[in-house]
This record gives sequence, structure tokens and C-alpha cells, in this order.
Amino acid sequence: MRHKKKHTRLVYADYAAATPVDKAVLKAMVPYFLDIFANPSAIYSSGLTTQEAVNDSRRVVADILHALPQHIVFTSGGTESNNLAIYGVAHNEVHHGKHIITSAIEHHAVILPLEDLKKQGWEITYIPVDRYGFVNPQEVRRALRRDTVLVSIMYANNEVGTIQSIAEIGREILKFRNQHASALPYFHTDACQAAYLDLDVEKLHVDLLSMSASKFYGPKGIGMLYVRKGVRLKPLLYGGNQELQRRAGTENVPGIVGFATALKTARKRAQKETKRLEELSHYFLKRLQVEFPLVQLNGPVVGINRLPGVINVFFPGFEGEQLLLYLDRNGVMSSTGSACNLQTVDTSHVLTHMGLSNEQARSSVRFSFGLFTQKKDVDYIISSLKKVFLLLKS
Ligand SMILES: *Cc1c(COP(=O)(O)O)cnc(C)c1O
Repeated sequence: MRHKKKHTRLVYADYAAATPVDKAVLKAMVPYFLDIFANPSAIYSSGLTTQEAVNDSRRVVADILHALPQHIVFTSGGTESNNLAIYGVAHNEVHHGKHIITSAIEHHAVILPLEDLKKQGWEITYIPVDRYGFVNPQEVRRALRRDTVLVSIMYANNEVGTIQSIAEIGREILKFRNQHASALPYFHTDACQAAYLDLDVEKLHVDLLSMSASKFYGPKGIGMLYVRKGVRLKPLLYGGNQELQRRAGTENVPGIVGFATALKTARKRAQKETKRLEELSHYFLKRLQVEFPLVQLNGPVVGINRLPGVINVFFPGFEGEQLLLYLDRNGVMSSTGSACNLQTVDTSHVLTHMGLSNEQARSSVRFSFGLFTQKKDVDYIISSLKKVFLLLKS
């Protein structure tokens, strides 16, 4: 399926799917593969050393979230964090309701567990989004019921970059809970794309928050779920009593150290990098509009309501999958944005819920920029697109 061909350059423009591990992150991890390998549960002193590394990492993450260390649960990634939040709340026998609210544009790691719960008799309300991908907090408020146990709304969308008003939705949920003197519903947000955004769980009024290190220059296969004090979760995994009995299994110590180092590093560069990526995105869009006047940006304008490096564009008259393959032959790595595999041509549920037709959705491509994207890479994408369009038109 993949074409190997000589190209003058390689341009990676799929940072929303995966990021390379930061050198400093890797360096921080290495000792925990080699020398400091004892099981954190061991009694002898080198077990204590690994336990300290886990504790220190937990504290670093907790501080960034304005939470306490005991509210951080390390997992195997964003998918597990989302599954733990959803099944953990739904299957906890102390909650009696059978209603969950979510948005129409969530990641599959939220949608599919919810669809599974639907088969088990749960009622799921999908809040629609507008043409830019925004959830209206008032619509969430109107959907709240006495039997709602969970609201799950993603912080920033991985396909189009739309950033939701999480704090505002959180306030509506809090108001509802106060009015009904209830601890429910809990509010979960999938923050896997939100490493550069405000992660203060007090300001956001969230009870559960998922992250994945692989999206912010940490290793793959390590994630985190913030669990507010008092939120009772039924675990997904049973065994040892790691993570305060919320997630059994020997801790992924190098991964946990990598997660914390990567998050700390991401926070340090967040402001500067956001500005730089926004400028690159503006430049890319400007050049696109000059060279191909028919293209349209999917999602909000570049600015505070959009992830700075995620640009999703509709190319009228072209097949997105085909564009990807031809761009790949030119050394440009991009994506359709939806968790696609080359076997199935899946139309993006995000784009169709934003009002695009199936055809328009299939003619859209996501370019996502990151740490190593330079202006000359953007220029190369433009010149590759020019070549590809000429080829496909003839
Ligand atoms: C990547 C991603 C996930 C899944 O995270 P994994 O670590 O790959 O399991 C979930 N939600 C969003 C928004 C993501 O971008």
C-alpha cells in the first residue's frame, strides 16, 4: 500500500496523531530502563527509589493540574483513560442513573465505550455542534437530567482543532448539581490534545480529565486520568493495588517519568510555541488561498478557539485519501484526521456533524504542525500540493 519513492524532502505534518519523543524526555527515562528498575512495590531500598520516581512524577503532573498527587491515575494512554472515566463511572454500583451526555464529535475512545453502554441499556445524548465544531454550553445545560451520571465533552478536537468552553460547561454542571443537591453528574473531558491549554481542573470545573503523553513529545503507551476527590470509579483492571487500587499492574516507571517530564517541558514552551504555530498556520492558510482559491478551512479561524497547529482543509473536487497518497509520494505526511486505516474509507463523523456533506468530508485533509515544523516545510507542502493538483487534474 505504501509507496517508497525518492523525494527531495520529508515533511511530517501529522503531529496531532503522534509526536517524536523529546530528547530530554528520553534522557530522563533511560535510567529507569537500565539501573533503577526495581518494582516500586518492593520493600528493599531500590524499590523505594523507583517508588520515589513515580511519586515525584505524580506530584509534577498534579501541580500542573492544580490537583493533589493522589488524584492522578497513570494509565496506558488516552484510550484507557477515557474508558476508565466512562466505564468507571457507569459501572460503579453506587450510581443509579442510566443517562450520559456527550458531544457528537468525540474521539472514538469516547464514542465507542458509550455506544457499548447503549447496548447495555444506557441512554446517550449527543449534543450537536455548530459549523465550526463548537458545543453550546446552554445545550449541555438543557440536556442535564436527574438521572444523568456523566457528561463527557472533549477539550480540543483532534481533527479540526476546535477548543470547547470547558470552564463554562463545567459551571453549568456545577450549578445543576447545587440546585439538586447532588454529587452527579460528573464532568469528564478528553484533554489529549490540550497540553498547551489551561489545565487547571479547578478553573475548568472538571471531575475527570484524560491525557496521553504521545501527543506532547512523550512516549506512546502512557496516559493519565485525573480523578477528583470523592469520585468513585470501578476499575477496569484488577490485580495488585497500584494507583490507589484504581489501576492494577506494575507501574510503567520509565513511561510515568517520561509523561511528567514531557508535560513539564510542554508547559514551559506552551506560550511561545502556540504563537509560533499560529503564525505558521496563518502563513499556510494565506498561501493556500493564493494558490488554490477554492479551498476552505474546516473549523474555527486560527486564534484562541483553535489548536494552533491543526489545519483541516476542504479541497473541492479532490479525494482526500488520494491527496494523502500523492502527498506521501512527495514526502509529505498528513492525514484525513479521523482515526483512519487504509483499509476502510471512513467518512469523518466530526466533519459531517459540522455540516459538511459526505463528499466534502472525504475531500478534506488535516495538516498538523509541531515542534520541528518550519516555514520552509509549509512552503514544501504548498509546492507538493501544486504538483499533486496538476497531476490529478490532467
Ligand atoms: C490520541 C487521542 C486519544 C487516544 O490516546 P492514545 O494514547 O492513543 O490511546 C484520545 N483522544 C484524543 C482527543 C486523542 O487525540
